[in-house]
Order: sequence, then structure tokens, then C-alpha cells
Amino acid sequence: MTALQMTGFMLDMIRSELEDAVGRENCSTRDIDKIAHGVDYFWLSRMWADRGLRMPEADIVVSPKDAEETSAVLKIADYYKIPVTTWGGGGGTQGGALPVAGGILLDTKRMNSIEQVNTDSMYIECGAGSIYKHIEWAANEKGYATMHYPSSLTCSTVGGFLAHRGIGVVSTKYGKIDDMVLQMEVVLPNGDIIYTSPAPKHAAGPDLNQIFIGSEGTLAVITKAQMRIFAQPEERRFRGFLFADLTAAFKASRELLQKFKPSVMRLYDPAETSSLIKKIVGVEREGAFMNIAIEGVSELVAVEEKILLETFAKYGAEDLGSAYGEKWWQEKITFFYPGNMMDLPQMFGTMDTIAPYDKIEKIYWEMKRAVETNFPMAKFIAHFSHWYEWGCMVYDRFIVDHPPADPHEALRLHNAIWSCGVRTALANGGVINDHHGVGIKLGRLMKEQYGSAMQVFQGLKKQLDPNGIMNPFKLGL
Ligand SMILES: Cc1cc2nc3c(=O)[nH]c(=O)nc-3n(C[C@H](O)[C@H](O)[C@H](O)COP(=O)(O)OP(=O)(O)OC[C@H]3O[C@@H](n4cnc5c(N)ncnc54)[C@H](O)[C@@H]3O)c2cc1C
Repeated sequence: MTALQMTGFMLDMIRSELEDAVGRENCSTRDIDKIAHGVDYFWLSRMWADRGLRMPEADIVVSPKDAEETSAVLKIADYYKIPVTTWGGGGGTQGGALPVAGGILLDTKRMNSIEQVNTDSMYIECGAGSIYKHIEWAANEKGYATMHYPSSLTCSTVGGFLAHRGIGVVSTKYGKIDDMVLQMEVVLPNGDIIYTSPAPKHAAGPDLNQIFIGSEGTLAVITKAQMRIFAQPEERRFRGFLFADLTAAFKASRELLQKFKPSVMRLYDPAETSSLIKKIVGVEREGAFMNIAIEGVSELVAVEEKILLETFAKYGAEDLGSAYGEKWWQEKITFFYPGNMMDLPQMFGTMDTIAPYDKIEKIYWEMKRAVETNFPMAKFIAHFSHWYEWGCMVYDRFIVDHPPADPHEALRLHNAIWSCGVRTALANGGVINDHHGVGIKLGRLMKEQYGSAMQVFQGLKKQLDPNGIMNPFKLGL
């Protein structure tokens, strides 16, 4: 890419073209806007700002209102070969939305219209900049629900979840964001506006949705999406259990999933049970706490609850009744609020990893051993929160209560712990990430994950974005 200095005369030239595309009031070069769009939920960006340093910033923040305006912005960027970083809610944890190469920051939040709640075909059509909670409210007004309940429901956007392959707490029954989208409107770097197939299941070639889901703004901007909605369940019942160890819990859960799909399945390791679960849910017991929710038509729920109790009893689970599970549900988002969750000045990171059942428990123990042995100042805690018939994900976190005061040393330590943990997951058959994405945080590990399969992603990038303007240095591209 030819580097163009977006300063002085050229900044004014390009700015005037961008103002023509989206309106003067929707372009900003004010410091305050650039700073606000330079820190997302990536610990390193927050730490950097917290220590009084400035993160890399965009040269201009631009907010198009729809696909046509987005197309005009991308045409300008492609012509001048200016980097474009798409920003949804800025709630990403991997530094995906950080404009590390400067250029244009494309904020999607003006694209927040809810165009239809289609109860015949069970979807909501909305702008990709819509905060997910808003589309949940729109579904609720008609008696339906999106069933996508991540802890960042109130701050992250439809486009952000699609771009990072997000997941919510009732995923076992209703699926991940990849399962929840019907059709998308996408703007390519050359300005073309394209649509994926109007039905997500078909035999008309590879699935275009899945090319853009998870592409983290490196291939295109998602401007609109049709997201699935579901009937509200007649009933949602909770049951808490205590397992003596994780092995029994894995066996019980795998067997349960061959019989039916609960909505919530959350297993906490003894370290999280005795810390977070004790503090927030009130379970004052040693062991591994597991919360299960079953929902749907009442008659089916009653049958499923019976199967659940029988299956878990076979593996020695102690039935703790429904109160803890209900408390957990009330707190499912406040778990992450300040005071409940670790926060600066603590150092922390979530290395969510996924693998089949024959590997997942070993991955957990090996990661815990590697992190705690190599970094004695770090605690390692985990829960297992998204389950499938074939395997599950481990949401493993490290916490350093007293990280180095020097920001450069803090960065070094943070990256070293990450590399150690994720490489251990890889060495034991795990995937570098389950649902937070790659961003700049894990870009260096993508080649280690994929080897020569990486050329497929590189080929797509080269074809769709020959000038390399879209979110440079993310996703290992
Ligand atoms: C407290 C908290 C709890 C969280 N819990 C969860 C959870 O339970 N489940 C979960 O999955 N995640 C969770 N996250 C992470 C975060 O919400 C997700 O990664 C989410 O996908 C980010 O969406 P965003 O709109 O904030 O995106 P941003 O952070 O703004 O951007 C994320 C990435 O997506 C790209 N992008 C954004 N919009 C578009 C678009 N329209 N087109 C193309 N690319 C785009 C950006 O360029 C960037 O690479 C949590 C975050 C926080 C702060």
C-alpha cells in the first residue's frame, strides 16, 4: 500500500470528499472523538490509556447512515489507499476495532434502524450498527426473543457480534451468532453492495454468510442483517448441581446432550465456584458448580427435567435445587459489572478455547499448569459455558493482581502469558479462540493455528481487498 500522510492539505482534501459522502456533521477530526475510538475492551488498550498514554488513533471518524454512504466512503478510501477500521460498540476484547494504522474509523452506529420484525419467517431486519439489546426489545414487543444473550448485550452491535462470531448464554439450544443470521447486506472495499443468499441453507455453492461472519472487518463492512427470532418459551426452569470433579461433569453433560439440548449449561471449576459463584450466586460449597436451564413447552420441560436429574445422578451430581440457577440468570450480565468482575489495575485476559470432549479437559489442566507454573503471579480460573454434542468451550481466565507499573513491562507480561496459554491450547488440540475473535491480540497465532490453510484467508483478502485497506494487521492478515 502506498502510504499517504493524512495531514495538512491531503487531510482537508479527503475530508471534503468524505463530508460530501456522509455529511459534514458525520465526519470528525476532533481529538475527543479520535481518543474515544482508540480504546476498546482489549486490556492492553485500556491499560495504555489508564497509564496516561495515547493509543494509535484514526485521522478521521466517519459515520455513514447506510450501505450507500458506506459504499461512498470505501470508494474514497480504496482510491487513496487509506486504512479503514470498522467500529461497532467498541466492546470487543481483542483490539479488533482499534485503528492501529490510522486512516478512517468507520463507526456503524448510525446504521441502527430496525426495518422489520417478520413473524412469518421469524427474523428481524436491522442495521448492523444496532445494539443487540435494541433488537431484543423490538422482538419482545411482538412476543418473541432473539435468544442471543451475551454479557455485552447492552453495549455491542449486531455487526460486531457477526464480525467476531459471538455467542450468548442460551447458545446450547439456540446456537451461536453464526446460526442466527439469515441474510446480510455487505459492502466490499471497492464499494460494491452485495447480498448473501436469501435462505441460509442451500446448495448454491459455499455459504457467503460464513465468509463474512468472523472476518472482523478485514474483508468488508456488514451494513444490514436479518437475525433470527424465536417464540418465547412457555417455561424456563433452572437446576443447580455440585460435582465432586470436572471429569464427572463432562461425562454427565456429554450423555445429557445425546438426549436433548438444555439452553444454559455452565460448569465452573472449583476455583471459580469458590470465588465468583460464591460471591455472586451465593454457593458456599467446595466442588464444581453447574447451572442448567431447560426451556420450551411445559410438557417437554417436565420430561427433560426428569431426564436431567436421572442422568446427572448417575455421575454423582448433588442436586442443589433451582434457587441458585435463578439467581445466576438474574445476574448473568451484572456478573461483568465493575465490582463483580476484575478490573484495572488488575491484569486479566480470557483465553476462550474450544475442543472436542476427548481433548477439552486435558486442555484446561495443561493451560492451568503452563500459566501458573511459568507465571507464578497469575491465577488461572475457568468455566465451561458453551456445549455441543461433540465438545465444549473453556472460558479460561488469568488474573494478575499486581501487574508491573511500567506500561511497556505490563504489555510484555500480558503478551507472554497469552502466548503461553494459547500455544498450550494449540499443542493439545484446541482452537485459539471460541467467540471473542482474533483482532490484533491473537493475530500472530493464526498461522500457528492454520498452517498452510492460512492461504485460503490470504487469498480471499487479496481478491476482495487488493489494496489492503480493510482493518490492517487484524486476524493475522
Ligand atoms: C463486559 C463484556 C462482556 C462480554 N461478553 C461477551 C459474550 O458473552 N459473548 C461474546 O460473544 N462476546 C462478549 N464480549 C465481547 C464483545 O461484546 C464481542 O466481541 C462483540 O462481538 C463486539 O461487538 P462490538 O459491536 O462491540 O464490536 P467492536 O468492538 O466495535 O468491533 C469488533 C470487531 O468487529 C468489527 N466490526 C464491527 N462492526 C462491524 C461491521 N458492521 N462490519 C464488519 N466488521 C465489523 C471491528 O472492525 C472489529 O474487528 C464481551 C465484552 C464485554 C465488554
